[in-house]
Amino acid sequence: MKKLHVALIGNPNVGKTTLFNRLCGVNQKTGNYPGVTVDKKQGKFKHLTHSIEITDLPGFDSIYPKSIDEELVVKYLKNNSGKNLIDKVIFVADGTNIKKNLYLLSQVKDLGYDIVLAINLIDIAKRKGIQIDTNYLSQEFGIHVVQISARKGEGVDELKSALLLDSPESRADDLKYLRPENHAILKDFTEKNNLQNIYKSFLSITQENTLPEVNSKKWKSEEAILRYQFVRKVLDKAIYIDKSLATDLTSKLDSILMHKVGGYLIFLMVLLVIFQSVFSLAAYPMGWIESFFSLLHDTMQSGLAPGAFTSFITEGLIPGIEGVVIFVPQIVILFFFFALLDESGYMNRIIYLMDRVMQKVGMSGKSVVPLISSFACAVPAIMATRTIENKRERLITILVAPLLTCSARLPVYTILIGLLVPNHLLFGFVSVQALVLLGMYLLGVVTSALAAITFKYLIKNQYRSFFITEMPRYLLPSLKNVFFTIWENTKAFIWNAGKIIVAASIILYVLGTNGGEKFKNTEQYVQAKYPGLTQAELAPKISSYELEHSYLGMMGKSIEPAIIPLGYDWKVGIALISSIAAREVFVGTMSIIYSIDSEEDLSIMQKLEKETNSNTGKPTFNFATCISLLLFYAFSLQCMSTIAVTYKETKSLKWTSIQFMYMTGLAYLVSLIAYQILS
Ligand code: GDP
Repeated sequence: MKKLHVALIGNPNVGKTTLFNRLCGVNQKTGNYPGVTVDKKQGKFKHLTHSIEITDLPGFDSIYPKSIDEELVVKYLKNNSGKNLIDKVIFVADGTNIKKNLYLLSQVKDLGYDIVLAINLIDIAKRKGIQIDTNYLSQEFGIHVVQISARKGEGVDELKSALLLDSPESRADDLKYLRPENHAILKDFTEKNNLQNIYKSFLSITQENTLPEVNSKKWKSEEAILRYQFVRKVLDKAIYIDKSLATDLTSKLDSILMHKVGGYLIFLMVLLVIFQSVFSLAAYPMGWIESFFSLLHDTMQSGLAPGAFTSFITEGLIPGIEGVVIFVPQIVILFFFFALLDESGYMNRIIYLMDRVMQKVGMSGKSVVPLISSFACAVPAIMATRTIENKRERLITILVAPLLTCSARLPVYTILIGLLVPNHLLFGFVSVQALVLLGMYLLGVVTSALAAITFKYLIKNQYRSFFITEMPRYLLPSLKNVFFTIWENTKAFIWNAGKIIVAASIILYVLGTNGGEKFKNTEQYVQAKYPGLTQAELAPKISSYELEHSYLGMMGKSIEPAIIPLGYDWKVGIALISSIAAREVFVGTMSIIYSIDSEEDLSIMQKLEKETNSNTGKPTFNFATCISLLLFYAFSLQCMSTIAVTYKETKSLKWTSIQFMYMTGLAYLVSLIAYQILS
């Protein structure tokens, strides 16, 4: 009987062990590789005229080893080629997900092995409607190709027979992994060192740096690119998925959810449901939170002795904490949906569907989730970018996320839009104000896309991303995991954003309640100016005058020269500065600062409408100023928590400053242009 030595190799989890057991049955023994604790499994079987001895090597993912197992396989493959120690290799691949396998196969093939490709799990692949042109693969690679099901035994006899045949000629180019201009260097090296195999020389150069003048990193990345191109080209022709043949539930669902047109429409609907829930469902608990804090405020105020400490608690600390807690309902709802999508397996489909679109703007399919979160709040959004492996795509996602309309902008927009357009209905049912609000959302989306494209050209691409995502089966989400996800993310938000919003509110409170001479003589002044008013009528005037002459007020006045061209006066300046802590503070500050000159008790909207600009004498909140302010709030990074979380996630002062500066610069420029044109 003739003897044949066969090595069994492949990526992990492709069914190698199952095949080994089926081939050898009980005729196997386990030993050890010298020096390492990796099992060496060998077995035997007879087929026709041959006695075949099989060595089962550990599963491995890359010819550039990252673990002891991989190192062992790679060493074994490098040492045994060409010397006829191994007559044949059975390369086992996963028929349901073959791309990654073929990449590795092409490398092993280039090491000079005589290979039979066993495409396993063909029973599952068929149920998914996957059809594989084995003849084409055979000709491209110059190997025999057999489809098998190791578990059911299908195709295994055919595989055994293929081991005894000579391999066909390969159509593929020998040096497909290297740019043509480098071919000569490699051939020369191979000849000089008397190596029989060119790819071995390539590995010697790239793994051991044996040719110092070569940039081996570059060769390695070129190899990855060129090889993937080759594999992709082959796969495009060799694999065809006939959805109509698919019979399993996952495939049936995929044929709807991943449809070229329908898939996007369904995703859009899913998005709408999420948004609708985030905003309308969250409104109830947000209302309760507001009532709770206002009750707390009133109780503290009446319960504690009046004085600096009480006012610190009621006007500094309580609103600060409220500013954090108010976002919790939206974040809980958002992460509830994300956890559902993730657990069910739909999230991977979204990532896949959106990847092509997102690549165009320098991001990845995985940026979609963080960007959606950003409509609630940029802080959890930036934290969620951790799943994006590619550094450049992650950085771009972080940089543009705060441009999307977060909920803290909503109260600001509501007030300004209220001043800007009357609440008319268009065609009897479309609110003009709602349309403008929608426009502000769209503006955020478009600007973030443009910013992303700009960054795509500015940031060098050091890390190429290969998009291989596994499509898991659809599963019913586990309630425990869903709650765990919500809990983890909410905790992280409260902790990360909370610290900063509370700290910033306290600092601003201190700056707003302390000041120079005028500040200290507020009461005398106000009483002198408004004789005859009751104590209750005087109170808002006093707070307003105090704010004007506090340190915060002075800061507002000091930036006035810079903001006059945007159409603002120092009063708006105070609001701009105080809303650095968080945008929604704008509304409260405006309400206080504009109390001074009004006689009656007006709503904030009425106060703002009546206000005149101390420089121009015209209404402060005219058309041009409102537009200018809307744009300013759309683009500027008025949010300490975002700045802090960007720093935490990028660990880079440079990118944190770039984010702050480009957004503030953009806000200033756009508001300036808008105001100058419109006024
Ligand atoms: P290895 O890591 O490559 O050794 O893979 P295993 O042999 O442990 O197989 C991984 C999983 O795939 C196991 O659950 C096997 O039962 C299963 N499996 C292997 N071959 C087939 C097959 O042809 N069809 C099906 N349906 N399952 C298979």
